[in-house]
Amino acid sequence: MFKKILIANRGEIAVRILRACRELGIQSVAVFSEVDRKSLHVRLADEAYPIGPAPSRESYLRIDKLLDVARRSGCDAVHPGYGFLAENAALPRACVDAGLTFIGPPAEAMEALGSKTAGRQLARRADVPIVPGTNDPIEKPLEAQALAHSMGYPVLLKAVAGGGGKGMRLVYSDAEFDSAFREASSEAMNAFGDARLYLEKYLERPRHVEIQIFADAHGRVVSLGERECSVQRRHQKVIEEAPSPIVTPDLRKKMGDAAVRLARAGGYVNAGTVEFLLDAHLNFYFLEVNTRLQVEHPVTEQVTGLDLVKLQIAIAAGHRLPFAWETITPRGHAMEVRLYAEDPDNNFFPSPGKILSRNVPSGPGIRLDDGVYEGWTVPNDYDPLLSKLIAWGNSREETIARLRRALEEYSATGIKTNAGLFRRILSEPEFLRGEIHTKWLDELLHRPISVASVPDEKEDAASDAAAIAAALWQATRSESQSNPASATGETPSRWKLEGRRQQLDRTP
Ligand code: ADP
Repeated sequence: MFKKILIANRGEIAVRILRACRELGIQSVAVFSEVDRKSLHVRLADEAYPIGPAPSRESYLRIDKLLDVARRSGCDAVHPGYGFLAENAALPRACVDAGLTFIGPPAEAMEALGSKTAGRQLARRADVPIVPGTNDPIEKPLEAQALAHSMGYPVLLKAVAGGGGKGMRLVYSDAEFDSAFREASSEAMNAFGDARLYLEKYLERPRHVEIQIFADAHGRVVSLGERECSVQRRHQKVIEEAPSPIVTPDLRKKMGDAAVRLARAGGYVNAGTVEFLLDAHLNFYFLEVNTRLQVEHPVTEQVTGLDLVKLQIAIAAGHRLPFAWETITPRGHAMEVRLYAEDPDNNFFPSPGKILSRNVPSGPGIRLDDGVYEGWTVPNDYDPLLSKLIAWGNSREETIARLRRALEEYSATGIKTNAGLFRRILSEPEFLRGEIHTKWLDELLHRPISVASVPDEKEDAASDAAAIAAALWQATRSESQSNPASATGETPSRWKLEGRRQQLDRTP
């Protein structure tokens, strides 16, 4: 087993990994950028080293700096977490060259499955159904347009290197195709340094169901069942649960088998997730493989009783998977909400700042995977994920009741959070019946009730004060030609926030 692991990440996932290390008796080494000096992961790790300024390109994305810390601190393995370098094959390659073990798949498997078009090609060969579309990057937009026309609109243009919904455009007609193509490819170029696009038929109101797989280096590949992630805002997950309210044991077996076939075809090792879209007739279509630990892995942990991070570490150390797929059946129900420092009443703009006070939930069936603490300042340089709140219960109903109760206990002042949004979702009759799809939340948010109208006694005083301050600020602003924001360090103007939003890397 390893003696010391470098955690090449920050926030809640770095904390999650170092906790697994501690339980295994492995030393943990954290890294931090200038704005993360006082972060929770730095406080909790056995050792911590600075790796440069706030922009991730100069710190968390610098393989040379990370490996230098690993060498200086005497690490024997590297865990990438999710986001940042987690799906960049250059990291496992550099680790091998430096004599370090990468806790994740080999670079070749990452490449074979991580690129969306390579994944589609492999899926076709492994007899896994895929969403209709192109399996190679588009070289001639006119030909792609003709294909879109013959498949029937709407279609989705997607970035080959995609992630976080970037470089994705929904196209409804021939007339829109050309401009959508140019926009999506320039967005993909900016986000990934790779402008290539491909095309998929746009499925109307599908459900997002994904399979957690694990593979050891001795040829055993297993499925640990599904997670449903259909509650999304603008194609980004906000609530995840296991098992899916709609997946039958038979469908679970079919999707699990398909995911395992694909992982085998790609020579996969360690934890991975095969994402599918499910149509109204329960036909499933391969979407992509995430070659890393997912943000939502805790819901699988809660229903399987396994610790996926410890399992990742054991497999990287060469251990065999100690079970067969047949032995894993989900027990009870688990659900996760992603708590963000963002403002639901202001188009979900990030709301970084100092956490003045916080009340965190606990009690039966509640788990909080935390990345922050009271008194810490959430920086505005990274994805503003604060914590993940996970509930477990014997049934979906009990799980929802526990999660709702926990969200009532949760409060934070100094920053805005999206907790009110979850309180609303968990009271929606359609959600309670499990009648959800990937556009469900976007449609809900366009209905006329404001999230702010959901009662939240603990935040009432703070939001009243904020409303009065905002009104005063507006009044001062209209009386004066000068810009109070720049003069007083007050709330920055909306366009500035919008610009920043685009620079943020959204948690995958
Ligand atoms: P990214 O990697 O950028 O997050 P994904 O391919 O994983 O993109 O898709 C993210 C989400 O976008 C899906 O969960 C789904 O809601 C939506 N989506 C992607 N492809 C399609 C499609 N062909 N039809 C309908 N919705 C889609």
